[in-house]
Amino acid sequence: REKQYRAQQGFGDRHGGVTGAHTYFYADEAKCDQHMETFLRCIDASSGSSEDGFSAIKLTALARPQFLVRFSEVLVKWRRFFHQMAAEQGQAGQAVLDTKLEVEKLQEALANLGVASKAESQQWFTGENMSTSGTVDLLDWNSLFDSRTKLSRPLLIPSSMTGQLEPLLSRFGEEEELQMERVLQRLDVLAKRAMEKGVRLMVDAEQSYFQPAISRLTVETQRRFNRGQPVIYNTYQCYLKEAFNNVTGDMELSRREGWHFGTKLVCGAYMEQERERAAQMGYEDPINPTYEKTNEMYHRCLDYVLEEITRSRKASVMVASHNEDTVKFTLRRMMELGIHPSDKKVCFGQLLGMCDQITFPLGQAGFPVYKYVPYGPVNEVLPYLSRRAQENRGFMQRANRERDLLWKEVKRRLLAGNLFS
Ligand SMILES: Cc1cc2nc3c(=O)[nH]c(=O)nc-3n(C[C@H](O)[C@H](O)[C@H](O)COP(=O)(O)OP(=O)(O)OC[C@H]3O[C@@H](n4cnc5c(N)ncnc54)[C@H](O)[C@@H]3O)c2cc1C
Repeated sequence: REKQYRAQQGFGDRHGGVTGAHTYFYADEAKCDQHMETFLRCIDASSGSSEDGFSAIKLTALARPQFLVRFSEVLVKWRRFFHQMAAEQGQAGQAVLDTKLEVEKLQEALANLGVASKAESQQWFTGENMSTSGTVDLLDWNSLFDSRTKLSRPLLIPSSMTGQLEPLLSRFGEEEELQMERVLQRLDVLAKRAMEKGVRLMVDAEQSYFQPAISRLTVETQRRFNRGQPVIYNTYQCYLKEAFNNVTGDMELSRREGWHFGTKLVCGAYMEQERERAAQMGYEDPINPTYEKTNEMYHRCLDYVLEEITRSRKASVMVASHNEDTVKFTLRRMMELGIHPSDKKVCFGQLLGMCDQITFPLGQAGFPVYKYVPYGPVNEVLPYLSRRAQENRGFMQRANRERDLLWKEVKRRLLAGNLFS
């Protein structure tokens, strides 16, 4: 099994070291339904308080984490197999969308590995989703997985550890199928309500060992509900080395299938936990090596989305950041690309109680800007807020900056004689 997708007792308490996000723990399916009801009330409240509001949800509140890990493992194994095939065709390390496997060579490789005979794989590569170019890219490959898993014979692929063939779905049985159905149903209920109420639904990104599944389930929902406008927003964490590949891959899928690409771009809230887990369990750290690399990644992903907005108008982004440089970068690129604030294709978001010195001027200048408000029982929300205040290293620095700015403003008003205007 892939190390990253093994259960590890030391990390059972997933809120350890996480200051910027709320953590849900699975009890049973009834509790997941209860969370869904809470999310529905939140959608209603958002619709009542503003014209074009957002509601954010977490999939670990709606599904069993064990299912999310197992589904993630399957998706990642399938993707790795694609990259293994790409390496055999001399395309190792290429950008995801530039990697195109030649079908004939691929069929030969699959037959040599014992994964599928040429006659069998012939059928895989004739479906309506296949490109006519005689090549297969990652999106074609993923669509193969969708249809292939419906076939009865278990699909065998080489293990990344031993090279031996093993069933792709060995840990994905009837229970997981059922879990998948249930979580998609819950998402469906939430998306329908959001659509009815004119609220956009953002699905938060969580730990990297859940994220492939979370993102895939979100894309499934986007396919259904983002046909006319972006109702569902997926979240991409730019501290991940894979962030650009994830953004470009999903964006290309949205182009091919003709739906709106709604996205929230964040830095990522689980860095310390991710690094510790990777070090302890002995797999590659999924996080960019430095803060600068994360910033570069953020700007690269954002630029890609902004260019798509200019090109097709079928993308929307929430720049969810407290980083002044990122906000300035966004404003500059919007101006250069001719994206006007009133287009409402780009909006900004900060956590409640943080960085009002960014939020308010943006709002005053006419940019759509939102505060992310944690909600829930007081005993759960208060520790979340105080933990963040205590643990966020940049927090005191920012609070000091905010205090300095407030003093400056008080002095300015005193000198101008209009303190209360
Ligand atoms: C509206 C909103 C929604 C959010 N939703 C989500 C969500 O769905 N999922 C989620 O995970 N988070 C979410 N977050 C939290 C977000 O990911 C960040 O944790 C938070 O915004 C702080 O990062 P920043 O870019 O805003 O600020 P910055 O001041 O730029 O802080 C970035 C922090 O990242 C650290 N950092 C990042 N990468 C590296 C690296 N490679 N090496 C060293 N340090 C690094 C730095 O230490 C710094 O403390 C959300 C935040 C907001 C405002």
